[in-house]
Amino acid sequence: MYIVPEREIAGLMTREASFAAVEKVFAAMAAKDAYNFPVIREAIGHEDALYGFKGGFDRAGQTLGLKAGGYWPNNLEKRGLINHQSTVFLFDPDTGKASAMVGGNLLTALRTAAASSVSISHLARKDAKVIGMIGAGHQAKFQLRAALEQREFEKVIGWNLHPEMLPNLQEVADEAGLPFEAVELDGMREADVIISITSSFDAILGADQVSPGTHLACMGTDTKGKQEVDPALLVKATVFTDEVAQSISIGEAQHAIAQGLIGEGDIAQLGAVINKAHPGRQSDEEVTLFDGTGVGLQDLAVASAVVDQAVKTGIAIEVDF
Ligand code: NAD
Repeated sequence: MYIVPEREIAGLMTREASFAAVEKVFAAMAAKDAYNFPVIREAIGHEDALYGFKGGFDRAGQTLGLKAGGYWPNNLEKRGLINHQSTVFLFDPDTGKASAMVGGNLLTALRTAAASSVSISHLARKDAKVIGMIGAGHQAKFQLRAALEQREFEKVIGWNLHPEMLPNLQEVADEAGLPFEAVELDGMREADVIISITSSFDAILGADQVSPGTHLACMGTDTKGKQEVDPALLVKATVFTDEVAQSISIGEAQHAIAQGLIGEGDIAQLGAVINKAHPGRQSDEEVTLFDGTGVGLQDLAVASAVVDQAVKTGIAIEVDF
């Protein structure tokens, strides 16, 4: 089997390759060539850690495996390690033998940014000029960098509960040579594309703070109880997701579903748009919303691409296992 350590991922994986891998696996999921296994997530009663597994099988891409990991809130303070820790394990689908072990920390950020980017690529208006960010933490920088490659954006605006983190967004806007402006939530009406990526447990963005024609990628809500937008926004918008079962249970749609505002049948898979089985955006006035919950197959897709690259470049460590 091959080992690709965390330290090698930055040199091996590009945003373009992450986008391609995630777009392909979303398409395979919608075509029913790939499916995710039920997610396991446990508070293990040690170090306040949340630990779990996200796995799946992509028959089209012949990728089988899981990502194991979670959140250790004391890591940084106690040990100087990052709080999110994950590792991807791949298995040979023909034999069940372990084929690779891959550092999953950077890959998680890249695959999550790729998911919102794929949604922007397929659902945002072609003439989108202003991108709005809600959230300015670790993931937000990856999200913004990848999103800026999808349209000819001219300006970045941002809101964050903790304004002292807004320089994170300024830094990415500077890299791209774009102006950055901190705004109040009402200012989000200027945005053609909005990404939300926070750890919020309450609605931040109101339905009337979004202009007609906007595309939203709601990326922060990946657990029961989390929430970033007013459920009324999901009524106003055409809703897409990576996986409907996750969207209604742990995604942004969980609230609109629980309140009976929308039904499961109102949520389409982004992969169906990629496969042209769903028309996607149908007018310049339509509000589209991607509920990005994060699926195991995304992790497997980018990990598999990294292993190929690591083997090709001689960086993969081969062990007899
Ligand atoms: P982070 O800790 O670096 O940043 C957290 C962000 O949320 C900051 O902008 C912070 O100001 C904001 N925030 C914190 N509490 C808030 C509150 N009560 N209300 C509004 N904003 C609040 O975290 P991160 O690594 O950037 O992750 C952000 C979120 O993305 C987390 O909820 C994480 O679980 C989620 N996530 C989702 C996926 C996915 O696939 N959908 C993947 C990775 C992470």
